[in-house]
Amino acid sequence: MARKNKRVMTNAHVTFDGIPDVPSLALVSVTITCDRCHKAIDGLLGKSYTAGFYDTDDGYWSQFADKDEKYICDDCMWSDARYLSVYRESVSMEETDHG
Ligand SMILES: [Zn+2]
Repeated sequence: MARKNKRVMTNAHVTFDGIPDVPSLALVSVTITCDRCHKAIDGLLGKSYTAGFYDTDDGYWSQFADKDEKYICDDCMWSDARYLSVYRESVSMEETDHG
């Protein structure tokens, strides 16, 4: 199955690879509770950017969340099968020969 290495997410709320394309890069410190593991997560929240967790309430990231989940921490997201099915190839592409 031929797939492109990089996916461009045109309707993403955040820019996955690269610096977020927002007028202001101001970030605020937030503590959220992960709706999957219920841990308190210290993260950063910007205009259209989060760090440490994913805002899955709506928009692009909601496809990786279950119905009642609003915030998902990095650890939970990175072990989510739906997320891995999209991003695992980009994580491994530097180590793998795609010739
Ligand atoms: Zn979690």
